[in-house]
Amino acid sequence: MTNKGTSVPQAMQMIKGIKSAFEQSLVTLSWMDEDTRKAAKEKAEAIYDMIGYPNFIMDPKELDKVFNDYEVTPDLYFENVMMFYNFSARVTSDQLRKPPNRDQWSMTPPTVNAYYSPTKNEIVFPAGVLQAPFYTSSSPTALNFGGIGVVMGHELTHAFDDQGREYDKDGNLRPWWKNSSVEAFKKQTECITQQYSSYKVNGEAVNGKHTLGENIADNGGLKAAYRAYQNWVKENGEEKVLPSLSLTNDQLFFIGFAQVWCSVRTPESSHEGIITDPHSPSRYRVIGSVSNSREFSKHFQCPEGSPMNPAKKCEVW
Ligand SMILES: [Zn+2]
Repeated sequence: MTNKGTSVPQAMQMIKGIKSAFEQSLVTLSWMDEDTRKAAKEKAEAIYDMIGYPNFIMDPKELDKVFNDYEVTPDLYFENVMMFYNFSARVTSDQLRKPPNRDQWSMTPPTVNAYYSPTKNEIVFPAGVLQAPFYTSSSPTALNFGGIGVVMGHELTHAFDDQGREYDKDGNLRPWWKNSSVEAFKKQTECITQQYSSYKVNGEAVNGKHTLGENIADNGGLKAAYRAYQNWVKENGEEKVLPSLSLTNDQLFFIGFAQVWCSVRTPESSHEGIITDPHSPSRYRVIGSVSNSREFSKHFQCPEGSPMNPAKKCEVW
């Protein structure tokens, strides 16, 4: 019925690669007991992948059914916004005591973002994020893995961050970890909390506790995407390097990752972010993750003990 072009099958293929890379790393984690490891693998495999947009929006009849109760009046911006709030609240309350509906997305198709839903155990990538700088079908694969690949790994890792880990593979809030692994997990994550608490923006410290879940996801995402890229190279052979940049493809992967977080902010906006945003400031989303990556230091020859290659490294997933 719908034509989702070439991006969707390509994205599906990438998610598959990211998932198996995540599972490969899972096998090697020394802090986890075997039963919890097995359950974690099952959870990773049970995650649903949603890409582009829900199918109903391409069917006019179905689309009308969903938006039937939403009335829009031309030129009344404020009223329309209020009507939409009311409409959304009704849609949400309609869900009470009904089974989860996978066709109902929390983001609209043009949104440049992605999310993990712990109660549905699904990762969602709206069409808007399947574009440059995250993804371009003609880009070197290294750049796509450093962009959308890291985002996919990030959302996947949310299923196993300090909050996501409390939900089982069916989206139910229920303890499924052995106590010994819960304790070990807390120890691993404490390292991340301390690491990010040491970062400052305009003299103001990042809140390592508030940003913990996102930092776990950033680190796990980078690691899974890099491993998935290596697996891709093993399977498909080394791709050509870009001309005149003097960068290897491994370096390009990390540059691509860093580039998606390039941004400019006023000091006031940075301050607001530190107080309210569960994500670390962009600069530390990059520096925090790559300074925990041995591969990054290897490919950029960072001397041991230098700022980007500290002796103490944190690892959760
Ligand atoms: Zn996140």
